[in-house]
Amino acid sequence: MTPRRFTILVVDDDANARLVMRAALRKAGYDVVLAEGGEDALARYREAPPDLVMLDVEMPGLDGHQVCAALRAEAGPLLPIVMVTGMDDLQSVEMAYEHGATDFISKPVNWALIGYRVRYLFRGYQALRDLQAAEARNAAILHAIPDLLFEIDIDGCIIDHRSPKGQALAMLGPSPIGRSLADILPAPAAHTCLKALQNALQHGTASGVQVEVAMAASSGWFELSVSRKAVAAGDTPRFIVLSRDITERKQAEARITKLAYFDSLTGLPNRQSFLHRVDREIQRAGRDGAKLAVLFMDLDGFKNINDTMGHAAGDLILQWSAHRLSDGLRPHDLVSRPIGLDGDERSGFELARLGGDEFTALLLDIDDHEDVLTIAGRIGDLMRRPFMLENREVTLSTSIGIAIYPMDGTDGATLLKHADTAMYRAKTSGRDNAQLYCASLTSDIEQRMALDASLRAALERNEFHLVYQPQVDPASGRIDTVEALIRWNHPERGLVPPVEFIARAEENGLIERIGDWVMATACSEAARWNAAGADVNLSVNVSPLQLGAPGLANRVLEILSRTGLAAHRLEIEITEGALTDNGGITRAALQTLYDHGIRIALDDFGTGYSSLSYLTRMPIGKLKIDRCFVDGLLAGGQSEAIVRAVLAMAHSLGLHVTAEGVETMAQARALHAIGCDTLQGFWFSRPVTADRIPALLQKHWSLKAGAAASPRAQAEAAMAASPA
Ligand code: C2E
Ligand code: CA
Ligand code: CA
Repeated sequence: MTPRRFTILVVDDDANARLVMRAALRKAGYDVVLAEGGEDALARYREAPPDLVMLDVEMPGLDGHQVCAALRAEAGPLLPIVMVTGMDDLQSVEMAYEHGATDFISKPVNWALIGYRVRYLFRGYQALRDLQAAEARNAAILHAIPDLLFEIDIDGCIIDHRSPKGQALAMLGPSPIGRSLADILPAPAAHTCLKALQNALQHGTASGVQVEVAMAASSGWFELSVSRKAVAAGDTPRFIVLSRDITERKQAEARITKLAYFDSLTGLPNRQSFLHRVDREIQRAGRDGAKLAVLFMDLDGFKNINDTMGHAAGDLILQWSAHRLSDGLRPHDLVSRPIGLDGDERSGFELARLGGDEFTALLLDIDDHEDVLTIAGRIGDLMRRPFMLENREVTLSTSIGIAIYPMDGTDGATLLKHADTAMYRAKTSGRDNAQLYCASLTSDIEQRMALDASLRAALERNEFHLVYQPQVDPASGRIDTVEALIRWNHPERGLVPPVEFIARAEENGLIERIGDWVMATACSEAARWNAAGADVNLSVNVSPLQLGAPGLANRVLEILSRTGLAAHRLEIEITEGALTDNGGITRAALQTLYDHGIRIALDDFGTGYSSLSYLTRMPIGKLKIDRCFVDGLLAGGQSEAIVRAVLAMAHSLGLHVTAEGVETMAQARALHAIGCDTLQGFWFSRPVTADRIPALLQKHWSLKAGAAASPRAQAEAAMAASPA
């Protein structure tokens, strides 16, 4: 018999999304019914209840959360409901769980993975359903007939016993009559029984008492109902005890708990059970005045492994990571806890997997945040060790966010949210590090969202303009190249420097459109200067994200032909990061540009990985020595030696060298003396608007001894000392 096919109800107001989801789920072997909105979904559900519902959150009319709550009320706990939420929309995820969702999938949906996700969910729910059906069948019979019936006195001495189902209980021994429970049963079980007798003595009955009898010969769980027997006045009290073997039910419950509260891939607790544990520990910590910490850990570059090596490899990495994390958290520096009141030994941490490549840990009884940072550091070290996969070394790092009770939140959900926010900060400050949550991060998020909105509008409203900063050839004293730098004139905030918005534009994807605008504008202005008789090159900063996205080289070539700027006039400035990320596309783009005569400069040299191997592998023609080395040049430290070494190496590879951030004449002279090819910095000129470039192109700078700096240069150098 072929197994029944499962039906999935897909609810989305976007026709396109519905169709793509249907295609992906059908491919995974499911039947799909579509609904285009909340009302429609409820109607379809009533027509023919599906096995699973996939719900978009944002819909006109009834939204996903409302539909979820309505379905949950109607369908009971056994219908899996998966919410499809916007990316990183933690609030909406939380709301989804509150409204009874089973799981969530975030957009953009990973179509390749969706079949697996759904299969896992079904597996868990099928087990629950089978169990429920079996239980319903058996419940009536089981409830009616006890397995064992005792008559017992107040001291627990067995007076008589009977076994209605004909089962003898091995643990009572061959002739239990006359013996006391305390002799037969292990102490904790006997204690529970005697307590039940006391209860029945007072109230006439005691029911639903569960005892675990753990003995070498046999063990199990029993449910007892005790009732006081009518005896003649003056006789010692006697009791009838009905005992039911509930071992199987207990085991089934444990299995369900495992399915509902544990992650099937790693065996770790899932989000729900993690949050329960955190909330329980918070209550305890509140009473004891203790502190605890929630760590939010996200593997850097995991997606890449999934994409390039396949999901099976990705799953392995996740399982191995789970092992490493639990090993790393277990020993020495974690305080071992006394045995808790409830008798179970409690460990000093709990590790969980939230989904994807996100793990969380709860650390108990911490002294202060230094402790936590130390542990986070150790996790970082542990996770950085290479994994061996298909004879290849795969290296990952981890970004960690930390929130501490009570400072950063007084309930599990808040702590988790704040640890997530801090993790995000760790990602944006270069990954592979740990960050503590601080309240200002929350307002950071709000600011970030406001920034996204105004950045989007800025392009349409023409709020960007370019300024240009000369790179001067110290031998001739003339401008060789001008670097285009973007400026944003924000309607309310005034001039916003690029450090405050470029990184954000890289995250939200706007950098591509902004970058295209910069390239087109700068090329057309540079073409005009050269057409008017100047002899000047243009250099344009290009973000790693632009380089890593397809089509960049073609767009640049198209801009050149449209504006008429000769290819050899254009140089693009890239950072070392661009060469390590996304290797393939970036490399191809650089090669195409290079083949067409466009030059490539490596910006901020010395601040990144400073791995020199790509200098020979990639078509790079220029190094720009970062301003921090120029800053330190005359201070007597290591900078001079570094600059000299870089120059020697670059020149031996045939590379041109520019020094950035030249603020004084003394620096300019020293750099010229040790052989820098071009110099850039406030001493020569601040970045200026396009209309001032033609005049600057006429200018001649002299570095000769005694040549006093021009009053303008002096003023500019003074301005340079104050932040721009
Ligand atoms: P960068 O490419 O290293 O640009 C040089 C930065 O140093 C500029 O800051 C410039 O104003 C500043 N600078 C120049 N001379 C001196 C000096 O003598 N002293 C000091 N203290 N600073 C000096 P700006 O314009 O604020 O740009 C900051 C960064 O933003 C740039 O660093 C670049 O990474 C990025 N950026 C600017 N425009 C663009 C763009 O159009 N596209 C992209 N992707 N990034 C851009
Ligand atoms: Ca630059
Ligand atoms: Ca730079």
